[in-house]
Amino acid sequence: MKIQALIVGGGQAGLAMSYVLKREGVDHLVLERGEIANSWITQRWNSFSLVTQNWQNQLPGFPYCGIKPEGFLRNSEVIAYLRDYQKTYQLPVRVNSEVLWLSKFGHAYQVTTQQETFFSEMVVIATGNLNRPRIPISSKEIAPEIYQIHSSSYKSPNEIPEGAVLVVGGGQSGYQIAYELLKNGRKVFMSFGRTTWIPRNYRGKDISVWLTLMGVIDTPINRIQTKFMLNSASSPIISTEHDCLRNLVKMGLTPLGRLTDASMENLSFADSLEKSFQESDFHLFQTLKLVDQYITRNGILDSPIEQVSTMLDRRLNLPRIKKINLLESNISSIIWATGFQNDFQFVKLPGFDSSIALDCNKVSSIFPGIYFLGMHGVCTIKSGSLYGVGSDAESIYKRMINEMQSYSGIQ
Ligand SMILES: Cc1cc2nc3c(=O)[nH]c(=O)nc-3n(C[C@H](O)[C@H](O)[C@H](O)COP(=O)(O)OP(=O)(O)OC[C@H]3O[C@@H](n4cnc5c(N)ncnc54)[C@H](O)[C@@H]3O)c2cc1C
Repeated sequence: MKIQALIVGGGQAGLAMSYVLKREGVDHLVLERGEIANSWITQRWNSFSLVTQNWQNQLPGFPYCGIKPEGFLRNSEVIAYLRDYQKTYQLPVRVNSEVLWLSKFGHAYQVTTQQETFFSEMVVIATGNLNRPRIPISSKEIAPEIYQIHSSSYKSPNEIPEGAVLVVGGGQSGYQIAYELLKNGRKVFMSFGRTTWIPRNYRGKDISVWLTLMGVIDTPINRIQTKFMLNSASSPIISTEHDCLRNLVKMGLTPLGRLTDASMENLSFADSLEKSFQESDFHLFQTLKLVDQYITRNGILDSPIEQVSTMLDRRLNLPRIKKINLLESNISSIIWATGFQNDFQFVKLPGFDSSIALDCNKVSSIFPGIYFLGMHGVCTIKSGSLYGVGSDAESIYKRMINEMQSYSGIQ
């Protein structure tokens, strides 16, 4: 079947692109391997809620209009939001259609699913880069009686076998899961690699309001002056709890350094905990200093002064545990909150590798007609969020017009 444009993936990115193409009269189809909002349905825990505020749910043509702009959608509400979006605009989505193959075909591209083959001059790849679990290879060395899952398969504390739990990874997912387990009376160990947290509120506003006002989230990822706010592992934890990492320890969590080795029931950890927490404190100070500077520069008089140092309780002595025996520690489960990786195995274009996908300018020059949308950090910090994906979809459409005019033109 010939079609003007194809979109691979029916998450927020694919739907946003579909909305823009439909509005502009471009004949297209969204191919989704599961259901609409598949990643939200299959890969988030029951108590999950967004850390971005409702006013940031800005899919094109479908901004949040509810009565709680400063609230946070639960997972089921995100799913409903995406389903409503598709329904409202009758976006053409073909579910249960996994793309297995994408290759060049003359001036066009051939896209193959189990059911059908399509030919199209434009293909938008909106398959996300936070939906293929990344689990360290050392997990395979761990004794088989230990229950292991990735954070994307975690649903609730009830589904985790009795006994203590080790959460590996100190990002947003690891934090939320460890917090929930502790609240449910579970004994929790947590291995931290690089980690960062910022407070939910600072100087009278939600932190996301400051970062938006300051233009941080609109900055191209490669030019971000505030690079220290990010780390390679994950986005910062945003929490209403002050000093949320040390607060977990006060709740009973046993913190550990980076996991370095695993052999049956014996695990080794680097002596890196103190350093991780110090780096996190440094990131916090730097980020909030930028907010302070912004407030001063813009003469914002009504924002109360907050002492950042009072947010941290550095008197807490962190343990220096280098080895753990899972059985002796009664640890029956490990939750790998170790992030995600790309999955572009279906892309069979000569010279393609996944680093190209994260460079929006390079993609178009090497593969005219191929676009990547929605990947975390692909253009700006907000590219992978419900707030930012719409503007990226609009700019992809503009690039489509320019590129298509140069050889065939959108009819
Ligand atoms: C733990 C966590 C917390 C987050 N919190 C927030 C937050 O608070 N606010 C926020 O704005 N964002 C948040 N995000 C980021 C982001 O919003 C999500 O990752 C979102 O799912 C990205 O949307 P997407 O459409 O780009 O990708 P996805 O939602 O992953 O959609 C991609 C779709 O492509 C489909 N697909 C994949 N491969 C194929 C194929 N070969 N053929 C056909 N279909 C395919 C998948 O089934 C999926 O439905 C969070 C992400 C995670 C993981």
